[in-house]
Amino acid sequence: MGNDLDHVLLTEEQIHARLDELATEIWRDYHDKDVLLVGVLKGAILVMADLMRALPGSAPMDWMAVSSYGSGTKSSGVVRILKDLDTDISGRHVLIVEDIIDSGLTLNWIRANLTSREPASLEICTLLRKPEAAKVDIDCKYVGFDIPNEFVVGYGLDYDERYRNLRDIGTLAPHVYS
Ligand code: 5GP
Ligand code: MG
Ligand code: MG
Repeated sequence: MGNDLDHVLLTEEQIHARLDELATEIWRDYHDKDVLLVGVLKGAILVMADLMRALPGSAPMDWMAVSSYGSGTKSSGVVRILKDLDTDISGRHVLIVEDIIDSGLTLNWIRANLTSREPASLEICTLLRKPEAAKVDIDCKYVGFDIPNEFVVGYGLDYDERYRNLRDIGTLAPHVYS
């Protein structure tokens, strides 16, 4: 599996250091607000796990699953809820926890959907963002890293459901796609 990676973009150490910083910022903003962390399955599982453990206090979490990419590397443009939240977020302070914002289409849809449920506030935390790929402008309060417009895997991010377990984040070698 090591040979399948072309190059490492972010190491586990860099990711953890940045998540520690973000957790400090988030707790500064939310320590008195009973924030609900909302993760988007499945990519955000490791971001959620490490971010919530880096928080100086404890916060509840909930999960949502939507379809966006299918098994390929291109956005289908169609978003569908596969698993909805267990929590009624009306009147709650909600922080969406995401792995990556690429075109922004998925998160734009999720944000509109959650906004219609009338939370007290709604903000976004994403580990990665690809500014060059943006098709819609997403106001994202907490961003781990801006990265180049390349398809990356590892740290929860998959290619056809594989590679989520890689500790670092990197690009796949061309032979993987053929
Ligand atoms: P968007 O709608 O912003 O284009 O993409 C949303 C979802 O597509 C992300 O949450 C993620 O699951 C997937 N995605 C986008 N870019 C990448 C990438 O570079 N690598 C992987 N593995 N998934 C991506
Ligand atoms: Mg995601
Ligand atoms: Mg995926």
